[in-house]
Amino acid sequence: MSRKNNSSLMEKIVSLAKRRGFIYQSSEIYGGLAGTWDYGPLGNELKHNIEQLWWRRFVSSRDDMYGISSSVIMPEAVWRASGHLEGFTDPMVECEKCRRRFRADHLDGVKDCSFCGGKLSAEKTFNLLFPVEMGSAVGGTTTAYLRGELAQGMFVNFKNIVNSFHPKLPFGIAQIGKAFRNEINPRDFLFRVREFDLAEFEYFIRESDWEQQFEYWREQIWQWIDQIGLSRERVHELEVPENDRAHYSKRTIDFEYDYPFGRKELYGLAYRTDYDLKKHMEESGVDISYLDQESNEKIIPHVIEPTFGIGRTVFAILCESYQEDTLSGEKRVFLKFPKAIAPVKAAVFPLLKNKPALVERAKDVYNMIKKEIPEIMFDDNGNIGKRYRRQDEIGTPNCVTVDFDTLEDNTVTVRDRDSGKQKRVLISKLVSRLTFEKGT
Ligand SMILES: [Zn+2]
Repeated sequence: MSRKNNSSLMEKIVSLAKRRGFIYQSSEIYGGLAGTWDYGPLGNELKHNIEQLWWRRFVSSRDDMYGISSSVIMPEAVWRASGHLEGFTDPMVECEKCRRRFRADHLDGVKDCSFCGGKLSAEKTFNLLFPVEMGSAVGGTTTAYLRGELAQGMFVNFKNIVNSFHPKLPFGIAQIGKAFRNEINPRDFLFRVREFDLAEFEYFIRESDWEQQFEYWREQIWQWIDQIGLSRERVHELEVPENDRAHYSKRTIDFEYDYPFGRKELYGLAYRTDYDLKKHMEESGVDISYLDQESNEKIIPHVIEPTFGIGRTVFAILCESYQEDTLSGEKRVFLKFPKAIAPVKAAVFPLLKNKPALVERAKDVYNMIKKEIPEIMFDDNGNIGKRYRRQDEIGTPNCVTVDFDTLEDNTVTVRDRDSGKQKRVLISKLVSRLTFEKGT
C-alpha cells in the first residue's frame, strides 16, 4: 500500500495519539512549543518497551557492549572537535517582513514567504546546536551546548571504558538518550523535532574490518526491524551519496520508512572512520589511542555507528499498527502492536458491573495477573462491546472477561484483539496464555 501524502491517515494517527494518551503537544495550554512533544502514559509505556527491547538486543544480551548515560550538556570544545560548530548547519532563508525562517533546501524554487508573501532573504547557514549559558551572568558565563548527537558522549568516554574494562576489539559503547537540534521548520509530528530520543552505539573496530562489520550491522538493523513488527516492504535502504553524507562519514546507509507524509529516514548506519577519536586527541591533547594486544601497536580504532530514532520508531509503529476493519457488523479502529511492545498487555472485565459476585471475582483475577504482568487494566465501564473497542484502540492484545460460568468452572473468556475470537481458558492457565513473546 502506498502511503505517500496520505494526510488523512496522518490526521487519524495524531488525533488518536492525543485522545488516548500516547502523544500530547508539549506545553499545549500555552499554545505549544514548536518541535516538542510529550509522551502520555500509553506513549511513554510504548517508548519504554521499545527502548528495553533495544537495550536487551544490542547491549545486555551481548558481551562486547558497554552501556552508558552521558551528560546532555557538553562543552564547546567537544563540538569544535567533532566539527559540529562548523558543519552542523542547515541552509536557511528568512522572510524580510514577518521574520519567519525556512529551510532553503525545502523551498522548491519558491521565492516569497508562504505566510505573508514577503521577500525572502539570501541564503544563510544556520547552526543547529542549542547553546546553553552556564553560570551566573554576574560571574561571567561560559557557553556550552545541548548535545546534537549521542555519539560524542561515547567518544569522550572511550578512554574511561578502556581503562575500566580493558575491552578487546571489536567492542561498542551504547546509550539511549535525548539529543537536540534547533530545527528551522519542525514538522510532521514526531518526525522533525527539536528535542528527541535516540538509541545508538559506536562500535570500535580495526580499520581492515570495516566492510565486514558494516555488513554485519546492516543485517542486525534488519533483524531489529522484524522484531518490532515493521514490515520490510515499508523500509528502504538509501545509499547516501558522498556530497550528502555527514562530514565524518565514509559510507552511510539510511533506512527509510514509508510514513504517511512520504519516505523518510528512520535509522542510519555510518562508517565514521577514526575521525572523531583523532579529533578529540588533537583538541584535548590527551592520548586516547588504544593498545591493540594482537599487534602490540597503539592504534586509533575505526567506528561503525548504527543510529535508531526512538520517536521516529514510535511514529512508524503507530503508522504500521493502525488498522480499520469491520467486526460483527461494526466498524472499529485497532492498533495491531506486537505483544512485546503493546503498552497494555491485557484488560480484565466483569461481564456485568452490577453483579457484585462477578466484580469481586474479576478483581481477584486482575490482582492475580498483575503480580506477573504489571501492565494490565481493569475496566467495568459501559457494555462489553464498548470496552473491547476502547482496548482495541490502544492495541491491547487480549481482553479477559469474568462471567457467570467463571463462578461455576473457574474459566474465563480470552478475546484476541486481531481476530475478535474468544476462547475459554482456565484461570490457572491464564498467565501463561497471556504471556507475550519475550524479545531476544
Ligand atoms: Zn513572511
